[in-house]
Amino acid sequence: MYNVKAYSAASAASPLASATIPRRDPTESDVQIEILFCGICHSDVHQVRNEWSSVMPTVYPIVPGHEIVGRVTQVGSAVTKYQPGDLAAVGCLVDSDRTCPQCQAGFEQFCPNLTLTFNGMDKHLGGVTYGGYSASIVVDERFVLRVPANLDLAGVAPLLCAGITTYSPMRHWGVTQGQKVGVVGLGGLGHMGVKFAHALGAQVVVFTTSPGKKEDALRLGADAVVVSRNPDEMQKHTGSFDFILDTISADHDINAYINLLRRDGNITLVGAPSKPLHVSAFSLIMGRRSLSGSNIGGIAETQEMLDFCGEHNLTADVEVIPIQKVNEAYERLLKSDVKYRFCIDMASLKSE
Ligand SMILES: [Zn+2]
Ligand SMILES: [Zn+2]
Repeated sequence: MYNVKAYSAASAASPLASATIPRRDPTESDVQIEILFCGICHSDVHQVRNEWSSVMPTVYPIVPGHEIVGRVTQVGSAVTKYQPGDLAAVGCLVDSDRTCPQCQAGFEQFCPNLTLTFNGMDKHLGGVTYGGYSASIVVDERFVLRVPANLDLAGVAPLLCAGITTYSPMRHWGVTQGQKVGVVGLGGLGHMGVKFAHALGAQVVVFTTSPGKKEDALRLGADAVVVSRNPDEMQKHTGSFDFILDTISADHDINAYINLLRRDGNITLVGAPSKPLHVSAFSLIMGRRSLSGSNIGGIAETQEMLDFCGEHNLTADVEVIPIQKVNEAYERLLKSDVKYRFCIDMASLKSE
């Protein structure tokens, strides 16, 4: 066991502050990674503040962060895929049981015994796992990902959660050249959805409540922008979409979007409104449309996503901050005052 610098919160009401946490010595199958960048995901904020207490109560102190990019510093004797000096990434999962039907099928994200990167049960040291707001992390090589060398590392970090969350459903529902794809909401998830849909060759329409986001949406790869509060604008697109990615986590009228799908079209939720959505059966029945949900992706698909990003030179738009600004960043994130993801430059932790 060794100690590393980190930022942690002591309670739901405490700000994140400098701390020291233990990491295990690498076992034979482990990779030790010096963390260079860590993205700030909205779920970091939810869990630091114990806002998901009914499903996954936060254990304090908490060290959040599951959008991790770094450099390998040490590997165990049985590690074959990585060596010191390699770039490496870690996402939302650091382990699973590897034997259940979900794991066998490559869907580790749905394993009933998965280990989340932070606030998960730590099989090695006891207590809970600590995430990426730290100087280093030790992870079994099966849950470590390779980073294409041509990409900006700060922009890669958010791919590990926001990226795979939007890429996976588009692949599952077969988004391809020439299709019409909608992206509802232009935040951390939405901006990645636009980039992926565009890179997959789709015609991309962004739905937003903010007319001010139009120019930026077009810059990110959208072909058109619809102000969703304008019923006439919405009406023009009735029955025309192959696929819609809904990234909104606030209460909203899902039927307005279901009605925009063509026959056999699908709308996938990746945002999670806290209240149940009101769904009109009629909207689904007409045209055999479907509504589904999706949650990150398996390890193999996450690697496929990173490789796709390497080929298409695609990264997240980030505002890089030092760790000392993390509490301020949380407040700004809650006001959607970021384009489009905060990313912590972990070198700043050295001065703590
Ligand atoms: Zn996340
Ligand atoms: Zn499993």
